[in-house]
Amino acid sequence: PQLANQIAAGEVVERPASVVKELVENSLDAGANRIQIDIENGGASLIRVRDNGFGIPKAELALALARHATSKISHIDDLDAILSLGFRGEALASISSVSRLTLTSRTQEQSEAWQVYAQGLEMETTVKPASHPVGTTVEVENLFFNTPARRKFLRSDKTEFAHIDEVIRRIALAKSAIAFTLTHNGKVVRQYRSALDDAQKLKRVAAICGDDFIRHALQIQWKHEDLHLSGWVASPTFYRAQNDLNYSYVNGRMVRDKVINHTIRQAYAEYLGNEQYPAFVLFLDLNPNEVDVNVHPTKHEVRFHQSRLIHDFICQGIINALSSEQA
Ligand code: ADP
Ligand code: MG
Repeated sequence: PQLANQIAAGEVVERPASVVKELVENSLDAGANRIQIDIENGGASLIRVRDNGFGIPKAELALALARHATSKISHIDDLDAILSLGFRGEALASISSVSRLTLTSRTQEQSEAWQVYAQGLEMETTVKPASHPVGTTVEVENLFFNTPARRKFLRSDKTEFAHIDEVIRRIALAKSAIAFTLTHNGKVVRQYRSALDDAQKLKRVAAICGDDFIRHALQIQWKHEDLHLSGWVASPTFYRAQNDLNYSYVNGRMVRDKVINHTIRQAYAEYLGNEQYPAFVLFLDLNPNEVDVNVHPTKHEVRFHQSRLIHDFICQGIINALSSEQA
């Protein structure tokens, strides 16, 4: 099973940024509203994610590192309507198989925290007492220390950190109520305060996407039965190539979806008569039964059961926003 973990790690753990994504998603799943991410040397020497979520009970700590140990699916039917971000129960096992991982956690019911440690293929099964407030800290040291081929593929600290920063931006855009702090080598690089009202939310989007984007973006609020599209698209009057500013979310999960990306371009092309690659931040919410999220281990891809319907819906929503600007 340990070898299986290392093989699986290849799918889930591409680089430090993928570790950060998995750990932060776990923190979100645990109901945290404050998440601190500390990085050293682009994540190669240290990735630490600390949250104030509900924690892991002492008795489940060791199990959390075991493959396919997920507390999030009680029976297989849940797969169809999965709402929580994590659901495969392999992230922690995979990460620990290619690093030195320390998991420290305390639940509300416990008066003290407990800690487990795993190093590559060996897991220390003794649970030690530790000091920690309610919540969880996962520390990942020396990523890929035992897989030199993988370690060789790591880019410069700066590049790896840029990928981590991008992961945090993407998550912070969708989770505006959650406070995030990101540090690199001891310096605070990003600090997103919890945004609770519309003005604060807009401020967060501006902080992440730039004031320019928000000042010139068209807001979208579009509904049809169970489908809901919201967010911002760049105004064509303020058009510039912004391929990098393409953020889409399905039920709060960041995705890279061909249907969505293609539809947005097509809507612009239809409306303006020429090809455009606009910047956008879009949130699509729909009945979870209408979409498969379990397509790929990194969970970037989704499959809509009625992709034609989704395409038409998004297209109409964007054209509506574009034409409201003309009015
Ligand atoms: P998954 O998220 O798919 O369930 P993971 O390997 O990411 O699998 O995590 C395994 C289990 O460890 C989770 O199901 C959860 O019970 C527990 N866990 C991991 N991280 C946290 C956290 N930050 N807070 C609370 N529980 C956590
Ligand atoms: Mg997970």
